[in-house]
Amino acid sequence: MRLLLAFVLALFAAVAQSADRAHDEHSAAEPATVRISAMALDLRVDFAARTLAGEVVHTLAWADPAAAGPAELVLDTRDLAIERVQARKGDGRWQRVEFSLAERDPIFGSTLRIALPSRMDAVRIRYRTSPEASGLQWMTPAMTAGGKQPLLFSQSQAIHARSWVPLQDTPGVRFTYTARIRTAAGLMALMSADNDPAARADGDYRFTMAQPIPSYLLAIAVGDFRFKAISERAGVWAEAPVLDRAAAEFSDTEKMIAATETLYGPYRWERYDLLILPASFPFGGMENPRLSFITPTVITGDKSLVSLIAHELAHSWSGNLVTNASWKDMWLNEGFTSYVENRIVEAVYGREQADMEDVVSQGGLRAELASLPPAQQVLALPPSPGRDPDEALTDVAYIKGQWFLSFLEGRFGREAFDPFLRKWFDEHAFKSVTTDDFLAFLRRELIAKNPGKLTEAELAAWIAGPGLPETAVAATSPRLAAVDAAREDWLKRRVAVAELDTSKWITQEWVHFLEGLPEDIAAERLLELDGAFRFTGTTNGEIAQRWYPITVRAGYFEARPALAQFLRKVGRRKLILPSYVALAETPDGLAFATQVLQQASAGYHPITRGAVQAVLDAAAK
Ligand SMILES: [Zn+2]
Repeated sequence: MRLLLAFVLALFAAVAQSADRAHDEHSAAEPATVRISAMALDLRVDFAARTLAGEVVHTLAWADPAAAGPAELVLDTRDLAIERVQARKGDGRWQRVEFSLAERDPIFGSTLRIALPSRMDAVRIRYRTSPEASGLQWMTPAMTAGGKQPLLFSQSQAIHARSWVPLQDTPGVRFTYTARIRTAAGLMALMSADNDPAARADGDYRFTMAQPIPSYLLAIAVGDFRFKAISERAGVWAEAPVLDRAAAEFSDTEKMIAATETLYGPYRWERYDLLILPASFPFGGMENPRLSFITPTVITGDKSLVSLIAHELAHSWSGNLVTNASWKDMWLNEGFTSYVENRIVEAVYGREQADMEDVVSQGGLRAELASLPPAQQVLALPPSPGRDPDEALTDVAYIKGQWFLSFLEGRFGREAFDPFLRKWFDEHAFKSVTTDDFLAFLRRELIAKNPGKLTEAELAAWIAGPGLPETAVAATSPRLAAVDAAREDWLKRRVAVAELDTSKWITQEWVHFLEGLPEDIAAERLLELDGAFRFTGTTNGEIAQRWYPITVRAGYFEARPALAQFLRKVGRRKLILPSYVALAETPDGLAFATQVLQQASAGYHPITRGAVQAVLDAAAK
């Protein structure tokens, strides 16, 4: 025990002493020398060629603008064709400058080095994207809900913005932007900017983002999108067949904004709209500022999965407003956001709902910790220069981070903790921060002002220790305890499936029921459940995520056709990966999965395709 504590304290000291946690190993940019302060995009969207083409003008802020002599601007790119680079001073003439593109790294792309005669004020780059750009998904009309128009959307986080704009692709640099986007008339273009709910789809759009954002929040979508208002400042964009259902499901969005403002201060981004994407969207949501991108797989009809909206909205404070300076401190984005999300759910839907969601997510974290190496179980991750940040995405940043903040809330009480958190957002608004910044703020604003409530060793265990600290208090939920009892009764055959009182169960209760089934459950028992509850073919993504892997492991082959259909239709990585993992465990399953992937692959986002392929490749070895 003592040894472990000494080890954790040493790790903790290492975190505190790393002077440069703000350094981003995933970008070649040199923000200590020069930063992009503003960006002007002018792009044409070509669905036939699957490219964006045009130019970007970067306004530059030099750390030492008066320094004489030549200078270099280093930008991140991936698979971009750079056609011309120019630079200028003030309002002077654009002059052509030399540039070189380094050899392509499979994870980080090609570094663009621009040679400048002096510290110029702006550079203009003419370029086009590759049809295989990792941050863009091009969809044919057949892959959309409407079926008539093509659709494009971006996913820039973590390091995919560089595949559609040459820039400093690091969360440590913030810039404002304007954009002109031209596409075919009849298609609506939207960005993480000032979208106009009354815009006509004339094919020529102009955007302004007046608040400075990091590159991973740069976003674009083009498609047959319509708008429906939720309130004065909130609404839904979606394809016509989805619009009304989405607007009904997410009708509490304004209540959520108001609840968050009460807790953590004003919403600083003016409008807050949702864009509902096709089911191939690789994530649940993406917190693109003013316009969260949302998977349709959470539209269940009973609002039981709208915590996703609470999550993306919460990012308007944690993440978008106060941003991790590098991805190794991702818990500052995602842990804070998961915590705020749960507070929003509690404020709008009550404690019972919030507790159920806590129990389910803590269960997910425990399961994931069991298979993660200790080095990846810590909140403040060590630098990992050669690693793809997409692969570092685990529940640790999200749920362990949230759990840590809940722990602090419990120790200090909401009277002290809520104003503390609000002050964190206020004082660091529009800034990029590190774990060290948070620890300094915590010691000064909470620990020093409430002496005796938290020891350094307890703090160290949370920040730098693997697994769950002894001080972690598990969430409890009477409703989920009742689900445990019901499951047990059915498993022991004390009650028949028809006698289970599930009439009022919502998604979290079903998820909890399924997650508690024994690993070696027999196929005939699944048949019983399926007969009563029709899990096979469910349109609820969270239930499908749990149900299908169980059917695979139990050899319940009746579910296979519906499973194949699910895997072909849905591209949300979290929902489908568990089924691929289960299938890959047997030669027969692997053959089935390989066949399904062949059919599904064209509809998957590159991020999802890569993740599924990695699972199948590992199994085939
Ligand atoms: Zn998030």
